[in-house]
Amino acid sequence: MEDAAAIISQAVEGVKSKISLDYMRKCQREGLFPYALWDACAEQGLLALGVPEALGGLGGGLREQCLLLETLNREGIGLQAIVILAMDRSTLLKHGTEDQIQRFVVPTLDGSMKLCFAITEPNAGTNAFKMTTLATRQDDGSYRLNGQKTWISNFKESDYCLIVARTTPFKDVADRREGISMFMLDTKAAGITAQPLQLGTNQASQQYTLFFDDVVIPAENLIGEEGKGLKCLFHALNPERLSVASMSIGLGELVLRKGVEYAKIRAPFDAPIGSYQGVQHPLAYAKAHLEAARLMRDKGVDLYDAGRNCAPEANMAKLLASDAGFEAVNAAMQAFGGSSMAWENDLIAYFTPLRLNQIAPINNQMMLNYIGEHVLGLPKSY
Ligand SMILES: Cc1cc2nc3c(=O)[nH]c(=O)nc-3n(C[C@H](O)[C@H](O)[C@H](O)COP(=O)(O)OP(=O)(O)OC[C@H]3O[C@@H](n4cnc5c(N)ncnc54)[C@H](O)[C@@H]3O)c2cc1C
Repeated sequence: MEDAAAIISQAVEGVKSKISLDYMRKCQREGLFPYALWDACAEQGLLALGVPEALGGLGGGLREQCLLLETLNREGIGLQAIVILAMDRSTLLKHGTEDQIQRFVVPTLDGSMKLCFAITEPNAGTNAFKMTTLATRQDDGSYRLNGQKTWISNFKESDYCLIVARTTPFKDVADRREGISMFMLDTKAAGITAQPLQLGTNQASQQYTLFFDDVVIPAENLIGEEGKGLKCLFHALNPERLSVASMSIGLGELVLRKGVEYAKIRAPFDAPIGSYQGVQHPLAYAKAHLEAARLMRDKGVDLYDAGRNCAPEANMAKLLASDAGFEAVNAAMQAFGGSSMAWENDLIAYFTPLRLNQIAPINNQMMLNYIGEHVLGLPKSY
């Protein structure tokens, strides 16, 4: 896509003109889905980024979607739902049938359909292989879903959920990677109970614990081959990691800018605090680390868009960017001193999402595990 940065930045200006920071603060503090932001992004055509023009999309690839996430976050209007949208759509575009692409990708382009993603279970956590939610095939080809998921973002606000479930129980598979399948689940289907969670993430999204009691999933909503869902899933994880890296870079730049501006004017001992190395160097370190993380993110998205393996870069980018984002908010908060705790300065508000990016969608220890084992060739450590 030519001039992607200019097109995205102009469209984001259009979004900004419609969305006040007070609206964002309210959604973030109350864990509300930011419908007005979603609609403004849709109006600017931004939800069609990353989908081929032949399907009615704007074209572009993961690079453009990551640039969008970075820009929105840098402007304080981050939309977590875009990460999940990009992840679900990349899975569907790669593994879905033509009919599934028409039903689940095309209606998302103008924002009229929202998607979420569900893999996490209370007793499995990071070890998703241990999931117990089971989809059992019926004689008519449909599936019956039973089990539980937790932490699922925007489930009730979404129309469909890309859900990962076992079609063969864990105890019956020789290889833990087998027997896992992916489905598009109608979030309004009978037999689903969604309980909202009370979290302090300060993100404009709501999480749910879900209970499935004989929920019917039509045969035509199975994505890819039954029992081979892990192949589809792995395709979705690298774009997600690069997307989260982009959120951290954008939000990290925003908090760093705030810290620097404040350090230039705050002068309790007459000289601006930014002239003290104790304040200046942590800000400078954070800047260097954010820039380095962006380079790794760019390398990862370019490999992904070229259809090449980007797993090492996606893992490294997520690790570096989430650490750099947290470093930036830490340095900015130190510069603000006591004022960092005032809601009006937004730093305490951005502290939690930047810390969260080190933990979810996957913790940084797993990034290190990947690098240790698959990049350095060390023995598996867990
Ligand atoms: C705000 C929010 C939104 C979320 N949205 C979604 C969603 O939309 N869909 C979804 O499916 N899930 C979602 N999640 C779940 C998220 O992906 C999980 O929280 C995450 O995968 C970690 O699982 P866990 O919290 O059970 O951690 P656990 O598995 O209990 O791990 C706890 C800690 O132990 C350490 N650890 C664990 N395993 C290892 C290891 N092998 N090596 C070294 N250290 C290890 C890590 O430090 C880790 O942080 C969300 C979570 C949050 C908080």
